[in-house]
Amino acid sequence: MPRDLDHPPRRFGTVTLLGAGPGDPELLTVKAVKALQRARLVLHDHLVGDEVLALLPPGCEKHYVGKESARHALPQREITALLVRLAHQGHDVLRLKGGDGYIFGRGGEEAQALAIAGVPFTVIPGLTAAQGAAAAAGIPLTHRDHGRALVLATGHGREGHPLDLDWSLLARPQQTSVIYMGVAHLPAICAGLVAHGLPAHTPAALVERATLPGQRCVDGTLATLPALAAEAGIQPPALIFVGEVVRLRSVLAPAQRVAPAVR
Ligand code: SAH
Repeated sequence: MPRDLDHPPRRFGTVTLLGAGPGDPELLTVKAVKALQRARLVLHDHLVGDEVLALLPPGCEKHYVGKESARHALPQREITALLVRLAHQGHDVLRLKGGDGYIFGRGGEEAQALAIAGVPFTVIPGLTAAQGAAAAAGIPLTHRDHGRALVLATGHGREGHPLDLDWSLLARPQQTSVIYMGVAHLPAICAGLVAHGLPAHTPAALVERATLPGQRCVDGTLATLPALAAEAGIQPPALIFVGEVVRLRSVLAPAQRVAPAVR
């Protein structure tokens, strides 16, 4: 078949959207480890820890692109544009995010942009922080007697706007709610849930730095958790768990063996 050697077909690069799990590198999937080990160019967020980055091969180019709520290294618009640009230039890019990219990770926005730009991409899911924290803290996310539905929500209000959560959804009985990015608004979240019908004695807990060294958990109720968290000085990243399943922690946490770490 005749080939135009002066104009070889131009190859677009590919993008791998990779969820790196909640922090402990042993919670990476096998697919994730393989993708990390062959990466040449990585764009990563702040929630991806050093131990995960240590799996990248020598010579791999790493770029930190953010983002913590107060410290955006690059605005999301620019991150997305950069991904598309690099792929159009022929680079294979590993886009590395904490947890799962499709759960409060803007993975959906990035995938949409790649689809529109015609960039081939792969999505590798990761354990979301709620799963890592639940397992580590001894809180089953669902339980036939205590939590028949699971809601994952964000507690992060838009800057300069009052907290605008779907209170009637979050305050339903017999469900577990896990609130991401909610530490700064913890008092307002607990008060809002009570105002919308959950009893003040509903069990609630915070898990800080789940699966990472220095992980901490604070247990209380919707009435007591804000003061307990302030006393303990809980900082992001942390998750708020609300629901009867939190009560099981008092039995499960002391009984369960902590998974052995290779660190
Ligand atoms: N895509 C991520 C979530 C990113 S949003 C995922 O699927 O897990 C960032 C929020 O996730 C943090 O503010 C915090 O609420 C939560 N988070 C992420 N990692 C965490 C960890 N190791 N421990 C506790 N919370 C964590």
